[in-house]
Amino acid sequence: MVRDPDSVPRVGFGYDIHRLVEGRPLFLGCVEIAFSRGLDGHSDGDAAAHAVADALLGAAGLEDIGTHFPPGDPRWAGVGGGELLTETRRLLAERGLRPLQVSVTIVAEAPRLAPHRAAMQAATAAALGLDPAAVSFKGRTNEGLDAVGRGEAIAAYAVVLAVAASGP
Ligand code: MG
Repeated sequence: MVRDPDSVPRVGFGYDIHRLVEGRPLFLGCVEIAFSRGLDGHSDGDAAAHAVADALLGAAGLEDIGTHFPPGDPRWAGVGGGELLTETRRLLAERGLRPLQVSVTIVAEAPRLAPHRAAMQAATAAALGLDPAAVSFKGRTNEGLDAVGRGEAIAAYAVVLAVAASGP
């Protein structure tokens, strides 16, 4: 029996890393987090939102985040993670898909992310039209290893499921 490929969930994986710099606010998971430095970038630098967006684009078989949100395009200058995810959701809808579940791991030596987990979950879920229970955020350190471990950058990994927009 041949199944309609859009009738089964589609998995997507995303990764992003941004450099930590002085003089910028820190945004992760669509929320601002009080910290001495922020993530560099043409956008607000929200590596977690970017990893989720790239995972969703991958699940939909669309081109990557750099293609849909070019770093040189003034439309996306300083764009927030929430706006970027809402636009990604719209791109999925054009393909007849919607996000179903999101799981994110953020790797940061500092700050501690546990106190911000619920806020990141709520804000990311809102941007994607999901129940917060469908979005998971975990934080971990890099055990002092490599650039992330030295506190020079923050990285994020995301896995998502997308399903047919018309489905249950
Ligand atoms: Mg990025």
